[in-house]
Amino acid sequence: MTGEAVDQSHLTTPERESSTVDPTSRPHRPPLPEGMSRNAWKRDQKKQKWLEQKDARNKYKKEKKKQKEIEKKEQQSSQPERGYDETNEKAEGNIRSVDVAKKGRNDMAVRAPITILIDCGFDDLMTEKENLSLSSQITRCYSENRRAVVPVNMRITSFNGRLLERFNTALKEQYKHWKGISFSPTEYEVPESGEERSRIIYLSSDSDETLTVLEDNRIYIVGGIVDKGRYKSLCLNKANSQKIRTAKLPISEFIKISGRKVLTTNHVVEIMLKWIELHDWKKAFELVIPPRKQEGFESARQKRKRQGGLQKEDSGSDGEDEHDEVSKEVVDE
Ligand code: SAH
Repeated sequence: MTGEAVDQSHLTTPERESSTVDPTSRPHRPPLPEGMSRNAWKRDQKKQKWLEQKDARNKYKKEKKKQKEIEKKEQQSSQPERGYDETNEKAEGNIRSVDVAKKGRNDMAVRAPITILIDCGFDDLMTEKENLSLSSQITRCYSENRRAVVPVNMRITSFNGRLLERFNTALKEQYKHWKGISFSPTEYEVPESGEERSRIIYLSSDSDETLTVLEDNRIYIVGGIVDKGRYKSLCLNKANSQKIRTAKLPISEFIKISGRKVLTTNHVVEIMLKWIELHDWKKAFELVIPPRKQEGFESARQKRKRQGGLQKEDSGSDGEDEHDEVSKEVVDE
């Protein structure tokens, strides 16, 4: 991830951390209003910030709530149409007449001739909790595609091991009733012909190439892994060894985000769906990446840190992790 112009001035550096230990070198604090204790003033400031961010927060929460309701409906859906391991080729370009408003899905939509493939071949590399997060993220990808204005063909490969077990037990085999998606227990096939292989693009934040558009008749592979940044260049190396092209999302070109630019599987899929609908990367990023990850959004904790009020709990990072955050969103909802 070279050449990324992210303003990291708000992040804690080792220098800043050590400087906060010495109270004499603390940044200048504005004078306290008369008769107000420092703690009361801090509370007041925090409340002020909280109120300022209310609109953005409410909008985001509303959207998440809507998504959650749709996911619930998906899970409760009791009208099996397509079964396990079936391909969705027949559905391609099909127009289905289902009560869209009632179902909250866009079953009338014509699919884009684009395939998003989630490669779940990393079962052994994840903890139990990460595995659970991945199952939630796959459910989210499915429901986002179901309600997308322009859905795509979706494929899940290497659907086996603990992931399959979870879908078969805790998740009650609901995936067997999912429509417009195919599950395969084995790895995707890598075509021998270079020309055919060039239709496949493995997405990786570590790639030197940057996506500009999503093209028809291409297969975009997204790594189905939650690893909290443990495995650097994992998918890049895998794709390179299979002679598959790679590309990263054009994040730096359109939006400033705090922290690393490694997004979760479901966010990458959601961004692609939004781009296919709007043909606008900036909007796609803004709609999908949580406001707190976007630059300009300052959490109360970050503000305290900036004002020098936070010392001991700093760990040297920005205290947030993309995977944790999104996993929490997906899992806790
Ligand atoms: N350590 C893993 C990261 C997993 S994140 C790795 O080496 O890939 C889950 C998946 O989301 C990635 O495998 C990648 O396919 C996709 N992804 C995450 N951030 C991305 C970005 N900025 N650009 C393109 N794809 C990204």
